[in-house]
Amino acid sequence: MLERLLATAKTPWKMNNLQLTTELDLQVAIKNGDIFLCKRDVCLCSSHNKIRIASIDRFGLDFSSYICKNCGLVFTSPYICENSLPFYYNKYYHPLHFGTNKPIKSLFSKGQGLKIFNFAKEYLNSSYIKIFEMGAGCGTNLLEFAKVAKKYGIKADCCGTEYNADYVQYGNKKGLKITTDSIEEYVSKTIDKFDLIILSHIFEHLTNPTGTLNLFKKISHENTLLYIEVPGIMNLKTQYVYDCDFLKYLTHAHTFNFSLSSLRATLNYCGFELVQGNEKIESIFRMNRHINKTPSTQVKNVNYKEILSYLTELEANLAFYQSKNPANSVYNRLKRKIRFFIEKLTGEI
Ligand SMILES: [Zn+2]
Repeated sequence: MLERLLATAKTPWKMNNLQLTTELDLQVAIKNGDIFLCKRDVCLCSSHNKIRIASIDRFGLDFSSYICKNCGLVFTSPYICENSLPFYYNKYYHPLHFGTNKPIKSLFSKGQGLKIFNFAKEYLNSSYIKIFEMGAGCGTNLLEFAKVAKKYGIKADCCGTEYNADYVQYGNKKGLKITTDSIEEYVSKTIDKFDLIILSHIFEHLTNPTGTLNLFKKISHENTLLYIEVPGIMNLKTQYVYDCDFLKYLTHAHTFNFSLSSLRATLNYCGFELVQGNEKIESIFRMNRHINKTPSTQVKNVNYKEILSYLTELEANLAFYQSKNPANSVYNRLKRKIRFFIEKLTGEI
Protein backbone atom coordinates (compact mmCIF):
# COMPACT_ATOMS: atom_id res chain seq x y z
CA MET A 1 0.00 0.00 0.00
CA LEU A 2 1.28 3.50 0.74
CA GLU A 3 3.61 2.75 3.70
CA ARG A 4 6.32 5.17 2.56
CA LEU A 5 3.88 8.06 2.72
CA LEU A 6 2.70 7.12 6.18
CA ALA A 7 6.01 6.16 7.72
CA THR A 8 8.46 8.70 6.36
CA ALA A 9 9.25 12.11 7.77
CA LYS A 10 11.73 12.79 4.99
CA THR A 11 11.13 15.16 2.10
CA PRO A 12 11.27 13.39 -1.26
CA TRP A 13 13.38 16.11 -2.95
CA LYS A 14 16.15 18.60 -2.35
CA MET A 15 15.10 22.02 -1.08
CA ASN A 16 17.31 25.07 -1.47
CA ASN A 17 18.43 27.26 1.45
CA LEU A 18 15.58 29.73 1.03
CA GLN A 19 13.04 26.91 1.09
CA LEU A 20 14.61 25.41 4.20
CA THR A 21 14.61 28.78 6.02
CA THR A 22 11.03 29.53 4.94
CA GLU A 23 9.91 26.13 6.11
CA LEU A 24 11.41 26.75 9.55
CA ASP A 25 9.84 30.23 9.69
CA LEU A 26 6.47 28.77 8.76
CA GLN A 27 6.74 26.19 11.53
CA VAL A 28 7.54 28.97 14.03
CA ALA A 29 4.59 31.06 12.76
CA ILE A 30 2.28 28.08 13.28
CA LYS A 31 3.70 27.40 16.75
CA ASN A 32 3.40 31.06 17.78
CA GLY A 33 -0.18 31.33 16.57
CA ASP A 34 0.60 33.78 13.75
CA ILE A 35 -0.89 31.19 11.40
CA PHE A 36 -3.85 29.14 12.53
CA LEU A 37 -4.53 25.57 11.52
CA CYS A 38 -8.00 24.04 11.17
CA LYS A 39 -8.89 20.38 11.33
CA ARG A 40 -11.18 18.63 8.85
CA ASP A 41 -12.96 15.54 10.15
CA VAL A 42 -15.85 15.47 7.70
CA CYS A 43 -15.59 15.30 3.92
CA LEU A 44 -17.44 17.78 1.69
CA CYS A 45 -19.91 14.95 0.97
CA SER A 46 -20.72 14.85 4.75
CA SER A 47 -19.11 11.45 5.26
CA HIS A 48 -16.86 10.81 8.29
CA ASN A 49 -15.58 7.62 6.72
CA LYS A 50 -11.97 8.23 5.72
CA ILE A 51 -8.50 6.64 5.58
CA ARG A 52 -5.22 8.43 6.18
CA ILE A 53 -2.97 7.94 3.14
CA ALA A 54 -0.04 10.26 3.92
CA SER A 55 1.28 11.77 7.13
CA ILE A 56 3.38 14.60 5.66
CA ASP A 57 3.43 16.80 2.59
CA ARG A 58 6.21 17.33 0.03
CA PHE A 59 8.09 19.62 2.46
CA GLY A 60 8.01 17.05 5.25
CA LEU A 61 5.50 19.21 7.15
CA ASP A 62 2.90 17.60 9.40
CA PHE A 63 -0.11 17.92 7.12
CA SER A 64 -1.82 14.57 6.63
CA SER A 65 -3.88 13.53 3.62
CA TYR A 66 -7.07 11.51 3.88
CA ILE A 67 -9.23 9.84 1.27
CA CYS A 68 -13.00 9.81 1.76
CA LYS A 69 -14.32 6.25 1.55
CA ASN A 70 -17.59 7.56 0.24
CA CYS A 71 -16.72 9.92 -2.61
CA GLY A 72 -12.97 9.50 -3.17
CA LEU A 73 -12.13 13.10 -2.36
CA VAL A 74 -8.61 13.47 -0.95
CA PHE A 75 -8.34 16.22 1.64
CA THR A 76 -5.63 17.75 3.81
CA SER A 77 -5.98 17.96 7.57
CA PRO A 78 -4.97 20.07 9.30
CA TYR A 79 -5.07 22.91 6.79
CA ILE A 80 -4.32 26.63 7.05
CA CYS A 81 -7.45 28.45 8.22
CA GLU A 82 -9.09 30.92 5.85
CA ASN A 83 -8.24 34.02 7.93
CA SER A 84 -4.53 33.11 7.96
CA LEU A 85 -4.35 32.62 4.19
CA PRO A 86 -3.60 36.23 3.06
CA PHE A 87 -0.60 36.34 5.45
CA TYR A 88 0.49 32.86 4.42
CA TYR A 89 0.26 33.55 0.67
CA ASN A 90 2.03 36.90 0.93
CA LYS A 91 4.89 35.66 3.07
CA TYR A 92 5.48 31.91 2.79
CA TYR A 93 3.84 30.34 -0.24
CA HIS A 94 6.10 31.63 -3.04
CA PRO A 95 9.56 31.21 -1.46
CA LEU A 96 8.59 27.78 -0.17
CA HIS A 97 7.04 26.45 -3.38
CA PHE A 98 9.22 28.19 -5.99
CA GLY A 99 12.47 28.58 -4.02
CA THR A 100 12.85 32.29 -4.85
CA ASN A 101 11.87 35.66 -3.43
CA LYS A 102 11.96 37.31 -6.83
CA PRO A 103 8.56 38.39 -8.07
CA ILE A 104 7.21 35.94 -10.60
CA LYS A 105 6.06 37.90 -13.65
CA SER A 106 4.01 35.09 -15.02
CA LEU A 107 2.38 32.99 -12.34
CA PHE A 108 1.10 30.62 -14.97
CA SER A 109 2.94 28.92 -17.75
CA LYS A 110 2.89 30.62 -21.12
CA GLY A 111 0.09 29.29 -23.25
CA GLN A 112 -2.32 28.72 -20.34
CA GLY A 113 -4.77 31.43 -21.47
CA LEU A 114 -4.64 30.07 -25.02
CA LYS A 115 -5.29 26.56 -23.75
CA ILE A 116 -8.30 27.69 -21.72
CA PHE A 117 -9.72 29.50 -24.77
CA ASN A 118 -9.27 26.44 -26.97
CA PHE A 119 -10.93 24.25 -24.35
CA ALA A 120 -13.90 26.59 -23.93
CA LYS A 121 -14.35 28.07 -27.42
CA GLU A 122 -16.95 25.66 -28.76
CA TYR A 123 -19.25 26.69 -25.89
CA LEU A 124 -18.79 30.45 -26.39
CA ASN A 125 -21.54 31.65 -28.67
CA SER A 126 -21.37 35.41 -28.52
CA SER A 127 -19.12 38.08 -30.03
CA TYR A 128 -18.88 39.81 -26.63
CA ILE A 129 -18.18 37.89 -23.44
CA LYS A 130 -17.51 38.84 -19.84
CA ILE A 131 -14.87 36.76 -18.06
CA PHE A 132 -14.00 36.57 -14.39
CA GLU A 133 -10.88 34.87 -13.08
CA MET A 134 -10.41 34.13 -9.39
CA GLY A 135 -6.72 34.19 -8.40
CA ALA A 136 -5.78 35.95 -11.62
CA GLY A 137 -2.10 36.53 -10.77
CA CYS A 138 -0.84 39.37 -12.95
CA GLY A 139 -3.49 38.63 -15.52
CA THR A 140 -1.42 36.50 -17.89
CA ASN A 141 -4.24 34.02 -18.51
CA LEU A 142 -6.81 36.74 -19.13
CA LEU A 143 -4.54 38.70 -21.48
CA GLU A 144 -3.71 35.62 -23.53
CA PHE A 145 -7.35 34.54 -23.58
CA ALA A 146 -8.52 37.99 -24.78
CA LYS A 147 -5.82 38.11 -27.46
CA VAL A 148 -6.76 34.79 -29.04
CA ALA A 149 -10.51 35.44 -28.60
CA LYS A 150 -10.07 38.62 -30.66
CA LYS A 151 -8.72 36.55 -33.55
CA TYR A 152 -11.98 34.59 -33.46
CA GLY A 153 -14.00 37.83 -33.50
CA ILE A 154 -14.85 37.66 -29.79
CA LYS A 155 -14.30 40.67 -27.56
CA ALA A 156 -13.51 39.52 -24.03
CA ASP A 157 -14.10 41.91 -21.13
CA CYS A 158 -11.77 40.67 -18.38
CA CYS A 159 -12.21 40.98 -14.61
CA GLY A 160 -10.71 39.15 -11.67
CA THR A 161 -9.45 38.99 -8.12
CA GLU A 162 -5.96 38.44 -6.77
CA TYR A 163 -4.51 38.56 -3.22
CA ASN A 164 -1.16 40.06 -4.25
CA ALA A 165 -1.34 43.86 -4.64
CA ASP A 166 1.74 44.04 -6.92
CA TYR A 167 0.21 41.60 -9.39
CA VAL A 168 -3.08 43.53 -9.34
CA GLN A 169 -1.27 46.76 -10.16
CA TYR A 170 0.54 45.06 -13.04
CA GLY A 171 -2.74 43.63 -14.40
CA ASN A 172 -4.52 47.00 -14.09
CA LYS A 173 -1.79 48.66 -16.15
CA LYS A 174 -2.53 46.11 -18.89
CA GLY A 175 -6.19 47.14 -18.89
CA LEU A 176 -7.60 44.31 -16.79
CA LYS A 177 -10.18 44.95 -14.09
CA ILE A 178 -8.48 43.00 -11.29
CA THR A 179 -8.90 43.83 -7.60
CA THR A 180 -7.48 42.62 -4.28
CA ASP A 181 -11.03 42.04 -3.01
CA SER A 182 -11.85 38.66 -1.56
CA ILE A 183 -14.42 36.74 -3.57
CA GLU A 184 -17.04 37.56 -0.91
CA GLU A 185 -16.30 41.30 -1.21
CA TYR A 186 -16.23 41.15 -5.00
CA VAL A 187 -19.55 39.35 -5.29
CA SER A 188 -21.22 41.75 -2.86
CA LYS A 189 -20.10 44.79 -4.89
CA THR A 190 -20.53 43.78 -8.53
CA ILE A 191 -23.71 43.70 -10.58
CA ASP A 192 -21.95 41.90 -13.45
CA LYS A 193 -23.02 38.46 -14.65
CA PHE A 194 -20.19 36.61 -16.34
CA ASP A 195 -20.23 34.26 -19.31
CA LEU A 196 -17.12 32.43 -18.17
CA ILE A 197 -15.56 32.03 -14.72
CA ILE A 198 -12.00 30.73 -14.65
CA LEU A 199 -10.31 28.90 -11.79
CA SER A 200 -6.90 27.83 -12.98
CA HIS A 201 -5.03 25.99 -10.23
CA ILE A 202 -7.13 27.73 -7.57
CA PHE A 203 -9.95 25.33 -6.71
CA GLU A 204 -7.64 22.88 -4.92
CA HIS A 205 -6.46 25.73 -2.64
CA LEU A 206 -9.94 26.73 -1.42
CA THR A 207 -10.84 25.96 2.19
CA ASN A 208 -14.57 26.12 1.48
CA PRO A 209 -15.08 25.21 -2.19
CA THR A 210 -18.82 24.66 -1.88
CA GLY A 211 -19.21 28.12 -0.30
CA THR A 212 -17.23 29.65 -3.17
CA LEU A 213 -19.32 27.80 -5.77
CA ASN A 214 -22.46 29.20 -4.17
CA LEU A 215 -21.00 32.71 -4.40
CA PHE A 216 -20.34 32.18 -8.11
CA LYS A 217 -24.05 31.70 -8.64
CA LYS A 218 -24.52 35.38 -7.75
CA ILE A 219 -22.28 36.47 -10.64
CA SER A 220 -23.66 33.88 -13.08
CA HIS A 221 -26.54 33.76 -15.56
CA GLU A 222 -28.15 30.51 -16.64
CA ASN A 223 -25.54 29.78 -19.34
CA THR A 224 -22.42 30.75 -17.41
CA LEU A 225 -19.54 28.35 -17.88
CA LEU A 226 -17.09 27.46 -15.15
CA TYR A 227 -13.59 26.42 -16.21
CA ILE A 228 -11.78 24.51 -13.46
CA GLU A 229 -8.24 23.26 -13.79
CA VAL A 230 -6.51 21.38 -10.97
CA PRO A 231 -3.69 18.81 -10.95
CA GLY A 232 -5.60 15.52 -11.21
CA ILE A 233 -4.70 12.76 -8.78
CA MET A 234 -5.43 10.12 -11.45
CA ASN A 235 -2.90 11.66 -13.80
CA LEU A 236 0.20 11.22 -11.67
CA LYS A 237 1.72 8.39 -13.71
CA THR A 238 2.60 10.87 -16.43
CA GLN A 239 2.74 14.00 -14.31
CA TYR A 240 6.46 14.75 -14.63
CA VAL A 241 6.33 18.07 -12.85
CA TYR A 242 5.92 15.94 -9.69
CA ASP A 243 8.22 13.21 -11.03
CA CYS A 244 5.15 10.92 -10.80
CA ASP A 245 5.55 10.87 -7.02
CA PHE A 246 2.38 11.21 -4.95
CA LEU A 247 4.42 12.65 -2.06
CA LYS A 248 5.92 15.36 -4.28
CA TYR A 249 2.39 16.19 -5.42
CA LEU A 250 1.10 16.72 -1.89
CA THR A 251 1.36 20.20 -0.41
CA HIS A 252 -0.33 21.78 2.62
CA ALA A 253 -1.44 24.57 0.24
CA HIS A 254 -3.74 22.12 -1.55
CA THR A 255 -6.70 21.70 0.76
CA PHE A 256 -8.24 19.14 -1.60
CA ASN A 257 -6.94 16.83 -4.31
CA PHE A 258 -9.37 15.75 -7.00
CA SER A 259 -9.99 13.09 -9.57
CA LEU A 260 -12.48 14.04 -12.28
CA SER A 261 -15.08 11.93 -10.53
CA SER A 262 -14.65 13.50 -7.06
CA LEU A 263 -14.58 16.97 -8.64
CA ARG A 264 -17.81 16.21 -10.49
CA ALA A 265 -19.45 14.92 -7.29
CA THR A 266 -18.50 18.15 -5.47
CA LEU A 267 -19.78 20.36 -8.28
CA ASN A 268 -22.98 18.34 -8.69
CA TYR A 269 -23.81 18.84 -5.05
CA CYS A 270 -23.67 22.62 -5.61
CA GLY A 271 -25.85 22.47 -8.73
CA PHE A 272 -23.24 22.39 -11.51
CA GLU A 273 -23.06 19.70 -14.20
CA LEU A 274 -19.97 18.54 -16.06
CA VAL A 275 -19.88 19.63 -19.70
CA GLN A 276 -16.42 18.37 -20.60
CA GLY A 277 -13.41 17.17 -18.64
CA ASN A 278 -10.40 14.89 -18.37
CA GLU A 279 -8.23 13.39 -15.64
CA LYS A 280 -5.45 15.98 -16.07
CA ILE A 281 -7.91 17.88 -14.84
CA GLU A 282 -9.17 20.45 -17.33
CA SER A 283 -12.91 20.78 -17.07
CA ILE A 284 -15.96 22.86 -17.90
CA PHE A 285 -19.10 22.93 -15.79
CA ARG A 286 -22.34 24.82 -16.11
CA MET A 287 -25.19 25.46 -13.73
CA ASN A 288 -28.13 23.13 -13.96
CA ARG A 289 -31.07 24.01 -11.76
CA HIS A 290 -32.55 20.56 -12.29
CA ILE A 291 -29.50 18.57 -11.29
CA ASN A 292 -29.91 16.05 -8.52
CA LYS A 293 -28.37 17.76 -5.52
CA THR A 294 -28.63 14.72 -3.28
CA PRO A 295 -25.72 14.79 -0.84
CA SER A 296 -23.18 12.46 -2.33
CA THR A 297 -23.26 10.28 0.80
CA GLN A 298 -26.48 8.95 -0.64
CA VAL A 299 -25.11 8.50 -4.15
CA LYS A 300 -23.39 5.26 -5.04
CA ASN A 301 -19.83 6.31 -5.73
CA VAL A 302 -17.05 3.76 -6.00
CA ASN A 303 -14.39 6.24 -6.97
CA TYR A 304 -12.39 5.83 -3.78
CA LYS A 305 -11.37 2.23 -4.56
CA GLU A 306 -10.31 3.22 -8.06
CA ILE A 307 -8.15 6.09 -6.75
CA LEU A 308 -6.59 3.99 -4.00
CA SER A 309 -5.71 1.19 -6.39
CA TYR A 310 -4.25 3.74 -8.86
CA LEU A 311 -2.04 5.23 -6.10
CA THR A 312 -1.00 1.80 -4.81
CA GLU A 313 0.01 0.63 -8.29
CA LEU A 314 1.85 3.90 -8.89
CA GLU A 315 3.75 3.54 -5.61
CA ALA A 316 4.67 -0.10 -6.33
CA ASN A 317 6.06 0.80 -9.76
CA LEU A 318 7.28 4.32 -9.06
CA ALA A 319 10.79 3.74 -10.44
CA PHE A 320 9.28 2.53 -13.74
CA TYR A 321 7.07 5.60 -14.17
CA GLN A 322 9.89 7.94 -13.13
CA SER A 323 12.21 6.34 -15.70
CA LYS A 324 9.92 7.74 -18.42
CA ASN A 325 10.40 11.29 -17.11
CA PRO A 326 12.61 13.22 -19.59
CA ALA A 327 13.96 15.29 -16.66
CA ASN A 328 15.61 12.13 -15.29
CA SER A 329 17.90 11.64 -18.29
CA VAL A 330 21.63 11.82 -17.48
CA TYR A 331 21.95 15.02 -19.51
CA ASN A 332 19.11 16.80 -17.70
CA ARG A 333 20.25 15.62 -14.26
CA LEU A 334 23.73 17.00 -14.95
CA LYS A 335 22.28 20.28 -16.22
CA ARG A 336 20.24 20.65 -13.01
CA LYS A 337 23.27 19.98 -10.82
CA ILE A 338 25.35 22.62 -12.64
CA ARG A 339 22.53 25.18 -12.40
CA PHE A 340 22.07 24.47 -8.68
CA PHE A 341 25.85 24.89 -8.15
CA ILE A 342 25.95 28.21 -10.08
CA GLU A 343 22.93 29.58 -8.21
CA LYS A 344 24.59 28.66 -4.92
CA LEU A 345 27.83 30.37 -5.96
CA THR A 346 26.08 33.55 -7.07
CA GLY A 347 24.05 33.59 -3.89
CA GLU A 348 20.71 33.42 -5.67
CA ILE A 349 19.51 30.68 -3.34
ZN1 LIG B 1 -16.57 12.41 0.52
